[in-house]
Amino acid sequence: MSDIASHLESVRQRIAEAAAHAHRPASSVSLMAVSKTFPAQAVREAYAHGQTTFGESYLQEALQKMEALADIRASTSWHFIGPVQSNKTKPIAEQFDWVHSVDRLKIAERLSAQRPEALAALNVCIQVNISGESTKSGLAVDEVRAVAASIAELPRLRLRGLMAIPEPADALEAQRAPLRALRELFERLRDDGHALDTLSMGMSADLEAAVLEGATIVRIGTAIFGMRDYATH
Ligand SMILES: *Cc1c(COP(=O)(O)O)cnc(C)c1O
Repeated sequence: MSDIASHLESVRQRIAEAAAHAHRPASSVSLMAVSKTFPAQAVREAYAHGQTTFGESYLQEALQKMEALADIRASTSWHFIGPVQSNKTKPIAEQFDWVHSVDRLKIAERLSAQRPEALAALNVCIQVNISGESTKSGLAVDEVRAVAASIAELPRLRLRGLMAIPEPADALEAQRAPLRALRELFERLRDDGHALDTLSMGMSADLEAAVLEGATIVRIGTAIFGMRDYATH
């Protein structure tokens, strides 16, 4: 078995075990393979082993990869998870199925205005700066409810939920605390009347904590494709 195939299998196993531990069906957690910095061939290999959801952070790289993978475009779904610059919203609105990293209303408004009519509404998550780090992107927790209310009005977006990249921590309990805070915010938005179904949290190092706290999609790069080499990127 290839590395990617065996890594995919072990990530699926980790999800299944964490879900069982959380008394959740494994099917309630979907797996996004984060392919940033890896070539189209790596995506193809993951696809050959049943992976259809892919995440990318760098627009130019993603667009080139998607072009090289045009033959499998219709049976894959592409999620933009990197910082969104306002002058880059058009290709994102045109090419992606989801954006997890909406962190201000202006970006949401541009994505909605630029989403082609021929396509379904663009699925979006609000990225929340859940650990309150000054350097991290994401909306401050106390701004999320107002921005969610405005995004929900945009005609070409479908607000699906929340995303966060918490500050790294080693211990399971320390990992769980910010993820739990994100889930609580998610529940508050649902109480506000938003029909949300997506809690985008959990990476290679905190997948188990995220599933225990209710993640519905985990974003896994390193554990599937290996270490990223930014130098050659
Ligand atoms: C790179 C990245 C991931 C994947 O991280 P790993 O630790 O490699 O699993 C997940 N989410 C976002 C937003 C990323 O940028």
